Amino acid sequence: MSQTADNNINLIPTKKAKDYKSTVSPIWCAGCGHYSVLAAVTRALAELNLEPENVAIISGIGCSSRLPAYTQLFGFHGVHGRALPVASGLKVARPDLTVIAVGGDGDGFSIGGNHFLHACRRNINFTYIAMDNEVYGMTKGQASPTTPADWDHSKLTPHGTGIPALQPASLALGAGAGFIARGYYGDPKQLTDLIVKGIKHDGFSFIQALSQCVTFVPEQKHWKEMVHTFPIEHINDPIQTAAEIQRDDGFGLGLIYERPSHGWMPPHHDPESELQILNDMEARFSV
Ligand code: SF4
Ligand code: MG
Repeated sequence: MSQTADNNINLIPTKKAKDYKSTVSPIWCAGCGHYSVLAAVTRALAELNLEPENVAIISGIGCSSRLPAYTQLFGFHGVHGRALPVASGLKVARPDLTVIAVGGDGDGFSIGGNHFLHACRRNINFTYIAMDNEVYGMTKGQASPTTPADWDHSKLTPHGTGIPALQPASLALGAGAGFIARGYYGDPKQLTDLIVKGIKHDGFSFIQALSQCVTFVPEQKHWKEMVHTFPIEHINDPIQTAAEIQRDDGFGLGLIYERPSHGWMPPHHDPESELQILNDMEARFSV
């Protein structure tokens, strides 16, 4: 099988989306947007014709973080908010793998917010898909960092939070991310294309996937009337892109920003000597 040197992408396509799905049935609610994101991830991997054993998918905690169990890939279901450091460590230790991190807005932008900033800044070559439904779904509908200030359907914030919602794309740009995109569960083809582009990008790729929570925020079905195309005139210009993000209502879809980059690796990376160090440590601490 012919492969490119740096990201395992096979040149002769032979795979189908189903080759990346496990036999575990998702326990997401009927109509949850995460089904569509799962389909987009597996379609993107098929389009890139990646061997399943060369891909690792990492998550934190939450409804969306169950996604690795529904794939046939090596996976790591980590602790809350810690998908990005796990993904970073894995990519540094195993640069031969294609690494994808997935999770929700609560996991990624609240408890995991600090890791998000530094993943953007470090620019290690992996792809982060944040499945954003503007709510904590698994713990029954509390406000998350991306919840609109006036959303008053949570028992914990019956009058709304009164706090402006975080803009993940703006944060990513300010923290130095070199690839920023926004997709929507209702347009799985575009979302697949964005994931393909994100995996191909050499460096940290951030994809915000708007993914509705039908159970706790059923009004999100109106998103289909709100999504629109993000203007791409300034896709390489961070200052103009920052202005476009501020002008946008958070529902602009597509590639928002991309700059040419090379993913960061530690200096003097020598897998053989690192393996030796690991073996020595294992021998030292064995009982
Ligand atoms: Fe999806 Fe919301 Fe159900 Fe969680 S609670 S599975 S996010 S619809
Ligand atoms: Mg959420």
